[in-house]
Amino acid sequence: MSELPKGQSIEEKQYLLRFNADTKSHLTVLDAEVCMSSCPDKLCTIFCPAEVYKWEDIRMHVGYEGCHECGSCRIGCPHQNIKWEYPKGGHGIVFRLG
Ligand code: SF4
Ligand code: SF4
Repeated sequence: MSELPKGQSIEEKQYLLRFNADTKSHLTVLDAEVCMSSCPDKLCTIFCPAEVYKWEDIRMHVGYEGCHECGSCRIGCPHQNIKWEYPKGGHGIVFRLG
């Protein structure tokens, strides 16, 4: 297995990622009201390494197309308010090492 060159920044490593996005999101924020009233720090906007979650006034925008499929949001949401599934076969992230 090839390795990433040492000394690369996150941005350089992310450049090696490609996405084949589905038309339907594999991520669902179940209840925006929970985000609004019970999660003042909007933790998913902090722990997601791909910055998929962006709080927009009263709702969470989910940029599922850039998901790295790390699974963190399955356990990171303190209210189990994110439904996470793998993208359908053939869709999602493509790792390009080189
Ligand atoms: S961490 Fe969970 S409850 Fe908090 S803003 Fe994100 S989805 Fe909503
Ligand atoms: S699986 Fe990882 S990259 Fe994808 S949305 Fe959740 S935390 Fe972000």
